This record gives sequence, structure tokens and C-alpha cells, in this order.
Amino acid sequence: MTQHLKLYINGEWVDSINPQRQEILNPANQEVIAKAPKATKDETEKTIRTAKKTFESGVWSESDPQERSRILLQIADKMRANQEVLVTLEVENNGKTKREAASDVTDAINTFQYYADLLNNPNGQTYEGDDDLQTMIIKEPIGVAGLIVPWNFPLLMSMWKVAPALAAGNSIILKPAGITPMTAVKVFELIDETDLPKGVAHLLMGSGSVVGQTIAESDDVDIVSFTGSTEVGRGIMQAATGNLKKVSLELGGKSPNIIFDDADLRTAVDHALFGIFMGSGQVCSSGSRILVQEGIHDEFVAKFVERAKRIKVGPGNNKDSEMGAIVSEKQMERIVEYIRIGKEEGARIACGGKRIERDGMEKGFFIEPTVFVDVTSDMRIVKEEIFGPVVTIQTFKDETEAIKIANDTVYGLAGAVFSSDQDKAMRIIKKVRAGITWVNTYHLTNVQAPWGGYKQSGIGRSLGTYGLDEYQETKQINVNMDPKPIQWFG
Ligand code: NAP
Ligand code: MG
Repeated sequence: MTQHLKLYINGEWVDSINPQRQEILNPANQEVIAKAPKATKDETEKTIRTAKKTFESGVWSESDPQERSRILLQIADKMRANQEVLVTLEVENNGKTKREAASDVTDAINTFQYYADLLNNPNGQTYEGDDDLQTMIIKEPIGVAGLIVPWNFPLLMSMWKVAPALAAGNSIILKPAGITPMTAVKVFELIDETDLPKGVAHLLMGSGSVVGQTIAESDDVDIVSFTGSTEVGRGIMQAATGNLKKVSLELGGKSPNIIFDDADLRTAVDHALFGIFMGSGQVCSSGSRILVQEGIHDEFVAKFVERAKRIKVGPGNNKDSEMGAIVSEKQMERIVEYIRIGKEEGARIACGGKRIERDGMEKGFFIEPTVFVDVTSDMRIVKEEIFGPVVTIQTFKDETEAIKIANDTVYGLAGAVFSSDQDKAMRIIKKVRAGITWVNTYHLTNVQAPWGGYKQSGIGRSLGTYGLDEYQETKQINVNMDPKPIQWFG
């Protein structure tokens, strides 16, 4: 039976007045798993007003940090109790494998746990100055937070925003990607069962150009936090100028993975595979540009291709599948188009390059792990974010050239270096212009560490104490400890 999703506004599940519905598909077989509402501009504006009213009431914004911590832990506990359901929904809706989805759910729970813990640590400062002046620096919530997320990590990207935004005491409106609302709906069902006051957290499904745009433009929204494409991010920043709301952007990438000839080859090949093919390459921090030192190029490519060919592609809920479906037909077509462009540009396909339409996969959106060699920095497949299981392999002569190629991009999200020479590895990684970097590994990170990009990969940081800062204002309170006239005038 197809599930009919509802909007969650002011603590109630409600139908949209818009009769239009978005069909939510399982990308592994195109089965319709739900129908989602498409909130109108009016409904979005009304929700923003409700969120603002709740903020001003102080019911959450002025609550004790300990109380907010307690409720964040309630959410974490409920997610933990529903781990299996969340994994199943994420696999069905996004196409990723069970293993990937399970890791996302664990990380999402840890995010709530982390911010709940952080709230129990004081985060203000005080200074004693001249003239009996005591200065306190305190943190306060910003107000109404609009949270707009993409389809590649529907649960995790949502919770990276929801947890710190709630921890800080804001009212929040979450807008999931149009095609992947399932896990967000589930989490809001769980939130509804907690003691979070009514009217603090709202869930609006609908199109980016209506719901997202209205949030970004609204004078009553105080921060818009967006993860998605650089192109839409640019538009959000422009839309936010009306009331100069705070803007936090987590955008695309084209991250270099630099492999020196002194690296342990087996390790480098293994991590490079994980770096690009995890999440079917639909990961903002994917290592989509592999740079290999000349001497080991042929051996690296041979070993990399041999393993890429063995990756088991299939439905995410099949226990043998190592790489799942592409999220949508549109995204699949975009990837296929980039593969065509790569060939036209003169790059050579070392493996993959096609949609997979066999063994019952013909109804799903599956693409072979694809490796391009003989590529040059000016090619579109090297410059532009493909967001799929497609990697390019280039060569470099020495450290100088490696850095030059690595930084020859408008993006600056992530980067990695593989070498057995620790000094060299550190020298190189410090020169990579990116916010998230690795030495002899890829993708692994901690909730404590700030996540975000340089250059056109975004503004601001998620996670860690930085992630809480994003959702807070900073106030100085100057107190005269010995009140008497200063006699500045006469
Ligand atoms: P997107 O268009 O940037 O969408 C991300 C979110 O923004 C979605 O919730 C989307 O809603 C919303 N949105 C769209 N237009 C908007 C607007 N004018 N104002 C406010 N919000 C708006 O990303 P996508 O379409 O999902 O994917 C396109 C490309 O973005 C990908 O191929 C990839 O290159 C990149 N991408 C990057 C990341 C990352 O983590 N860095 C993640 C996903 C995608 P709708 O879903 O309703 O359109
Ligand atoms: Mg879009």
C-alpha cells in the first residue's frame, strides 16, 4: 500500500492544500513507495511564522541547556530503537546498500548524542577589564533556522543540521530533497513522541523552487543552512540578502586523491576504491580525481581496475550488493551524459562506462563503476562534479606538480594523500586547499571535527563545536561591577 505522507507543522501531521503529489520511488526497481505533499508558498510562510512565534515564546529558546540535552537524548534513544526501520527506509528510498545506510543511521544517532553531551559543557567566556568592567561572552540561539538538504544522505545530512540547530535552542524547518523524504518523516514521527515543545520543529516537503526558495528569501528566517549543489547554493546566498540572514553552505566537490610512488599500493588502491565508489560516488567528498605518480601509474591502474570490475552492483537490500543504485533516473542520465562527454573529449575508459540492465536490474538505476584514464585537467570530466561512480586518473611527476593539479579546481571540499613518507604526506596535505583532508585513508572522520569546504565548496562548518556555533549568535554583556559616575562630560 502506498504511504501518503503529510507535512509536520506546529506539532500536527497535516495535508497540504496543494492537490499535487510527488511520487517517491525505490531507485532499485522504480516501485512507488509513497506519495509526498508539495507544500505551497503560503503554507511555507505560515510555518515560518509559527516557528518564529514559538521562538519568541521562549519555550525552547530560553530553556535550560540541560533540558535541551535531555530531549536530544530522547531523540537519539528513539532513533536507536528504530534503527532497522530507518535503515530499510534509507535503502528503499535512496538506493544505497544496507551497510552504507546502517553506518549513516549510527552516525546520525551519534550526532544527537554528541550535541546532547556538548550542551552540558559551558561554552561562554568571561574577561575582567579595567575600571571594574566584567565582560561576559554568551551564546544565544539565532531564531528560525531553515534547513535544506540533498538526496545523497537524506537522513545524515538532515540530522547534521537538526541536532545542532535544536541544541542551540532554535526553531527549525527541515526541507528534505523532493525525492528522498522517507527517513526525515520517520525521524519527525519519533520527535513527535518526545517532550520537544510543539511548534519548535517543522517538516516541509515540496519543491526547492517553492519551499526552499521561500525559506531562503523569508525575512522571518534567521539562518538558512543548505547542503547541495554549488549552483543552487549560489542562488540561496542571493535570496538571503533581503534580511542579511546567516548563510551556511555545504556544496559540491571534485576532490583530489594524491598517490605517491612510495605509498603502500595495496592500501592506496583499496582506499581509493572506497573514496570514489562508496555511495555510488554520490558523495560530496568523493575522491573523484585520482592523481598517481608517473612511475606507478600502470601498476596502479591495473590493480584499481581489476578491483573496480569485481565490485558487486545491485539492489541495496540484497546482502551481496557492495554498491547500490543511483538515486534517480535524472541523476543516472546525468552520469551517463558525463561518460559520453568524457569519451568525446578523448579520455579512455579503462572499465565500466555503461548502465547495468541485467539480472533483474533493468528496472533500476544502476551504473558500472567507471574509470577514465588518459585524461587532462582541461576536460569537463576532470573539472565538473559528476556525482556518480566515475573516477578520472591522472599522473604527476613530482610534489610541485601534484599540488598544482590538486588545487586546479573551483572546489575545495576534500583531499587525500597516500605516501609512506610522513613528512612528505604532511607537507602535501597542508598545501591542499580543502577543508576535509586525509593521510593514507579516505572518508573517515569524527563528529567532533568540523566538516566543510574552501572556495566554491561552501561557507561555514558542520559538526563539532563549530557546528553548534553556526546556529548561535554571540553576545557580549559588559557589567560595571562598581557602579558610579564616570564624569566623561563636565
Ligand atoms: P540541489 O538541486 O542543490 O538540491 C539540494 C536541495 O536544495 C534539495 O532539497 C532541493 O529541493 C533544494 N533546492 C533546489 N532548488 C532550490 C532553490 N531554488 N532554493 C532553495 N532550495 C532549493 O541538488 P540536487 O538536485 O539534489 O543534485 C544536483 C547536483 O548537486 C548533484 O548532481 C551534485 O552535483 C550536487 N549535490 C551535491 C551534494 C553535496 O553534498 N555536496 C549533495 C547532493 C547533490 P528539490 O529536491 O525539491 O529540488
Ligand atoms: Mg535540483
